[in-house]
Amino acid sequence: MSGSVRPVADPAAFKDNARIVLADPVLRRSFRGAMDFLMDKRAAQFPDAAGFARLRRLGETVRQHALAHLPDLLERLEANLTANGIHVHWAENAEDANRIFLSIARRHEATRMVKGKSMVSEEIELNHRMAEAGVECVETDMGEYILQLDDDRPSHIIMPAIHKTKEDVARIFADRIDGAPYTEDVDALIAIGRQALRNLFRDTRIGVSGVNFLVAETGSLVLVENEGNGRMSTTVPDVHIAVTGLEKVVEKLEHVVPLFALLTRSATGQAVTTYLNVISSPRRSGERDGPREVHLILLDNGRTQAYRDERFRATLQCIRCGACMNHCPVYARVGGLSYGTTYPGPIGAIIEPHLLGLASTRDLPTASSLCGACGEVCPVGIPIPDLLMRLREAARHTVPEVPAPALKGQGAARTIGEALAWKGWRLLFAHGALYRLFAWIAPRLRGLTPRTQAGWTRTRAPLRLAPRSLREQLARRRTGGDRRD
Ligand code: SF4
Repeated sequence: MSGSVRPVADPAAFKDNARIVLADPVLRRSFRGAMDFLMDKRAAQFPDAAGFARLRRLGETVRQHALAHLPDLLERLEANLTANGIHVHWAENAEDANRIFLSIARRHEATRMVKGKSMVSEEIELNHRMAEAGVECVETDMGEYILQLDDDRPSHIIMPAIHKTKEDVARIFADRIDGAPYTEDVDALIAIGRQALRNLFRDTRIGVSGVNFLVAETGSLVLVENEGNGRMSTTVPDVHIAVTGLEKVVEKLEHVVPLFALLTRSATGQAVTTYLNVISSPRRSGERDGPREVHLILLDNGRTQAYRDERFRATLQCIRCGACMNHCPVYARVGGLSYGTTYPGPIGAIIEPHLLGLASTRDLPTASSLCGACGEVCPVGIPIPDLLMRLREAARHTVPEVPAPALKGQGAARTIGEALAWKGWRLLFAHGALYRLFAWIAPRLRGLTPRTQAGWTRTRAPLRLAPRSLREQLARRRTGGDRRD
């Protein structure tokens, strides 16, 4: 960032964070340029709207089928992974997942892990928790590596360092990598980063990765990537630990095909990515490479809460392509860091309330103009605007208005003043005489309108009642008393 103040990692600070970003012209230009670039690349991959609609229906069906059979598929997945020699661990929350990571590291006397890109590892704050326990966790995705060197956070789920300029990266490498010269040549910077990371792969016993899809039928982990660091992290070290959300399961290997096509086109505008890794077992006898031990950690962390509610369940269809972020006019202006969460933008606004509760995330569903672009581009048909509205409703009401199962923090945005105002409003509209009396009195008291009206007047003129009610204006017009009305 060009400014010295950074947005903080707290969704409750969303509005303050957004103000910091909006005041930073370099950051705003970077985001706008990057979003335009990604939108153009995606559009080039879907030139035919009918073709996109067909593929999207297929992807949506695959995801809905998987969610409809989730408990059964997870049981089959565990049985087949275990039969393939992969250890399966269940983690209810971030603490559980980190404990499992640490116990594996301790058993192998490892003090370092190399990690491919994984948003779930960000969700559980793996790097920080491991560092506290004396285990270094080194990012190997180039964007994540840059951020780790600069003690910064991802601002996009596909392109984590999108808020960094090449001058930023040149400075970070020159300051933080031993012997690295200052250069703004992008190829030279990539080569510097690669060389530093390659040495680490060779000397580290544990590799960590995320997972894009889990295949129940074959007991396989599918990993999509472009840089090759995912393959290095999952094949060079002796031990591979994969971590992902339990919603990532699909029934059959053939179900991955449409999801893969939708993911790569929607995320980076590529027909295919450079690497598609399918991992179905540890190294078998006679094989020359691959880890000797593979673990999968399946994380819940609020996902079953979303699953229990039929409408919120659609949130779990997400394949983390980032297209909703790229097309969101709010995200393009305030950037990913403003949200203060692991998942920013529209997907963050609908998933984070389930992960963190509504008390801290209640502003996120309001960070949308409801233009509908996110829902239109979502490759698996998640009705994002509807979910945003439902979360707004849940933030303001307590049960029974929004029926059980209650969302953690439901009703957190409800204030007594606002509740009374809406009650009064309902009363007025339900009683004609009362409404007419109010409509007669209110314009006559307009001189008492406060000049400061909470957040509204920070950037706008105060709201004032018209001098005459609409009814009075119409009456005057009918009698020819006031032609200007
Ligand atoms: S909600 Fe849809 S568009 Fe957004 S990241 Fe998930 S799959 Fe992609």
